[in-house]
Amino acid sequence: MTRLQKAILEVVKSSDKHLSAKEIYAKVQSAFPGVAMGTIYRNLNKFAEDKLIRRVSGLASADLFEGNLLPHNHSQCLACGKVADVHIAGMKEFVQEHIGDETVSLDLLVNVICSDCMKKDGNFVFEQPDPKVGC
Ligand SMILES: [Zn+2]
Ligand SMILES: [Zn+2]
Repeated sequence: MTRLQKAILEVVKSSDKHLSAKEIYAKVQSAFPGVAMGTIYRNLNKFAEDKLIRRVSGLASADLFEGNLLPHNHSQCLACGKVADVHIAGMKEFVQEHIGDETVSLDLLVNVICSDCMKKDGNFVFEQPDPKVGC
């Protein structure tokens, strides 16, 4: 692994947040001023494939990266885009019971309005699930 690759990995691993490629780029750039955005992307993709870091995808915003490899799910705030870790005890068993098939892993994204945004504006209109399809 090159010094640059180590630096990219270290930025993700040492943060307890979910970082975008742009945020990682900004941090790595201070030590490696000439680094290209494409190099950052390429390495993040590789690290995620090699399971050195985790990619959080399917978000309203761009994919995020984190160093926490322990199984957990996420919530995203539809108002401010904040992504948080979600831990629900017994979730896998609950899902398995309803699906019937052997549940191997779970990657759940819960859409929320976070408490900060709720305080700012409590008048959000929530999408109603189609009653025929259910939630
Ligand atoms: Zn919010
Ligand atoms: Zn996470």
